[in-house]
Amino acid sequence: MKKIITVIISTLFLAAAALAQTVAIRNVNVIPMDTERVLANQTVIIKDGLIAEIGPKVKIPKGANVIDGTGKYLIPGLADMHTHLMSDDAEFPKSIAEDELKVMIANGVTTIRLMIGTPDQLVLRAKSARGEIIAPTIYAASPHLTGREQGNDFVVNTPEEARDAVRKSKAAGYDYIKFTTFIKADVYEAAVDEAAKIGIRIVGHADSRFVGLDRALKARQQIEHLDGYLEALLADNAPMKGSVSDLYIYDPKNWESLDYVDMSKIPLIAKRTVESNPFVDPTQHFMKNTFGLPRTEESVRAQPDFRFYPKKKQDFYLNYMKRTRLNQVPLEKRAKWVAIKDKLIRAIYDAGGKILAGSDTPEFLWLYGFSMHRELKALNDAGLSPFAALEAATRNPALFFGTIRTTGTVEKGKQADLILLNSNPLVDISATERRAGVILKGKYYSQTELDRWLDEIAPRIAGSLDEK
Ligand SMILES: [Zn+2]
Repeated sequence: MKKIITVIISTLFLAAAALAQTVAIRNVNVIPMDTERVLANQTVIIKDGLIAEIGPKVKIPKGANVIDGTGKYLIPGLADMHTHLMSDDAEFPKSIAEDELKVMIANGVTTIRLMIGTPDQLVLRAKSARGEIIAPTIYAASPHLTGREQGNDFVVNTPEEARDAVRKSKAAGYDYIKFTTFIKADVYEAAVDEAAKIGIRIVGHADSRFVGLDRALKARQQIEHLDGYLEALLADNAPMKGSVSDLYIYDPKNWESLDYVDMSKIPLIAKRTVESNPFVDPTQHFMKNTFGLPRTEESVRAQPDFRFYPKKKQDFYLNYMKRTRLNQVPLEKRAKWVAIKDKLIRAIYDAGGKILAGSDTPEFLWLYGFSMHRELKALNDAGLSPFAALEAATRNPALFFGTIRTTGTVEKGKQADLILLNSNPLVDISATERRAGVILKGKYYSQTELDRWLDEIAPRIAGSLDEK
């Protein structure tokens, strides 16, 4: 009983604290992200979790928490459109989940789309929505539909199993149906049909050997990782059908197909993509730096992410990097693969696509939060302007979620999920890594405080496998 009362009181307290605080950011440069522009020397009033006022001559209410924004830039909070939690994995204690979500907040990630659903995520989603935990706004895809058992999944090998998995996912309250791999074409078609019938959107991989890009585009699926695109680019006279998407990345033989890529096919594929579903989440930083560019143990150890991983995971991935068969693939070929993917991203953007920024963390020692900024840089490096890269984590996710009227830009009346930056990200996208503070649901956290969270959380997550 006492525990229940404590929970009730702390819940009320959290909710009241969020409501009570009025924040005024004085003399700040606002980057609203509606169009590419900077509104200089604005005062932004944040009240009851919303942006109450923006203007050059706004009066600051009495008792407000006043933040000096001089020389700083205010942007929308970032949305990570593809992430997972370590605590999704049964090996980890569930108790670390709230710490994991705080790592994201400390990095300015105020909205996430969890891409392989678990029942625990639905609880976290509800707690976050009610303001009971300090966490991003959460969207959760279903447990993944797959042809082979892989954990947190629905193994679907008949059309009826697929329909059943779709119905169960919808009934449980998941936001999207997630596909991964080894799903046979007729099973996929059944899932797509059922999802359309009951009204739930489909997202995820497009297994190039089973489903294929054509079928996924026809189904208007929102595709992750540019899966299936390399195969679709193979020249008509190529001696193979397979290429380097998805799990097929791991077989060095498949990389030979890169000699048969027909780049002249890119514009048409980009056009067809946008006609099918303009939202494309390439997770390019993850793909490029995990499988494309070489990574040294020194560079991995030097990342701020490293200290958050239990030793067992650090050793596992460092060992993987030494032993992977990918090391047999010439670096030149891997660089070519990155360049092709960059060209695809740029072409889809130019064709009118809405690129989404997804980190695909926390595998391979890339941690959520930190990796979000690397993804923005990767999109910029692929040829998107800093503004377009920032759109991929702000405005475009809001369009995808259907919440553009309340999130995704810095405008009066919108939800106050914001980041205060020390320099202009439209000039240099890596400015998102130099933060003065983060505003979550109207509450301001200085980066000094957020960095303290990270120092406290890192040993807790890293030690979480010892305790269990
Ligand atoms: Zn993923």
